[in-house]
Amino acid sequence: MPVTHLECSRTGEHYRAGEVHNLSPAGKPLLVRYDMNQAQRTLTRESLAERQPGMWKWHELLPHLGEPVSLGEGETPIVSLPNTGGPNLLVKDEGRLPTGSFKARGLAMAVTMAQQFGIERIAMPTNGNAGAALAAYAARAGIEAIVICPAETPAINITETAAYGARVHVADGQIDECGALVGKGAAQGLWFDCSTLKEPYRLEGKKVMGFELAEQLGWELPDAIFYPTGGGTGLIGMWKAFDELEAVGLIGPKRPRMFAIQAEGCAPMVRAFENGDEFAERWEDAATIATGIRVPKAIGDFLILRAVRDSGGAAIAVPEAEIMPAVEEAARKDGFLLCPEGGAVLAGYRQALERGLVGKDERVLLFNCANGNKYPLPDRSQRLRLSEAEPALL
Ligand SMILES: *Cc1c(COP(=O)(O)O)cnc(C)c1O
Repeated sequence: MPVTHLECSRTGEHYRAGEVHNLSPAGKPLLVRYDMNQAQRTLTRESLAERQPGMWKWHELLPHLGEPVSLGEGETPIVSLPNTGGPNLLVKDEGRLPTGSFKARGLAMAVTMAQQFGIERIAMPTNGNAGAALAAYAARAGIEAIVICPAETPAINITETAAYGARVHVADGQIDECGALVGKGAAQGLWFDCSTLKEPYRLEGKKVMGFELAEQLGWELPDAIFYPTGGGTGLIGMWKAFDELEAVGLIGPKRPRMFAIQAEGCAPMVRAFENGDEFAERWEDAATIATGIRVPKAIGDFLILRAVRDSGGAAIAVPEAEIMPAVEEAARKDGFLLCPEGGAVLAGYRQALERGLVGKDERVLLFNCANGNKYPLPDRSQRLRLSEAEPALL
């Protein structure tokens, strides 16, 4: 058994593995801990290079036993954006995972664990991508899924989630308010609550991004990572992953500066970062086109802020008006269609350059966490009457 115990991220108290968990008794996320000495024996650069690519090859540092619930999660490529930002600007393209977003990593792991625990019904609040991923993996595992999302959730996610057979409810509130309803049902014993960081295993799936990028970059972490921050699972997960890689001797102490990117219309982490606060107050009237990062209140706020500060990075808010132009810029110049959250990250990188927080010559990795095709884009086509068309005028 690679897992030794779970640990409260706030108090450090230990809890037993092999049992169903949500938050710790202190109301904070639980972190999964492993036997690092045991992991170190088989988790080597050489053994990894021989394994089937994808998240499951990191099994020494994953919590499941036996077969995972899988839809063929591949390793996502790191692609450069040379015309947009020069040779040192890289994107990890998480849009190529099942269901078109990196939520697949977290939900593949969480649903695998839920199946092992015999859980039969799972509910979740979502701004879209997480609900679709939950629905897909739950369908595969034979688990019932109930998804509650805010009205502004991208339509494709709502229809996709329903296509997998999940029950989808579109609500008149923000994601944290949908989450409160999910929590109420869980307290009544109606279902298992699979909200971000309120169960310990989504984080373990998402952290694999940190393992994967380290191996892809030749075990040399980039100078900076720009991450679109909603609940912050990926950022917290990668920060945990780097410590685990160091503990098993795969990397040294060098860490990237972590930049948490939010939209000006919903920037609770940025406000807390700038005020020097340990926790973040709820952001009222949250609004942004980058729905994946429209999270007014994050349960892992102190973990996000700690990783950003300990790494020497920053939390940055980008103006709403810069998000879609950044999407279109990368599309036109480099043929890379970012999702809106990815557009926010590119705009955040630009701002960091201007503010002198990163240098042009530094190696920077941006995260694009969903396939750009999942979102509406402006229609710039022109009507054409074929009987009168002049080819030279097209
Ligand atoms: C969920 C989501 C995010 C935010 O991820 P967290 O790890 O919860 O902060 C960013 N981008 C996209 C496309 C998402 O779906």
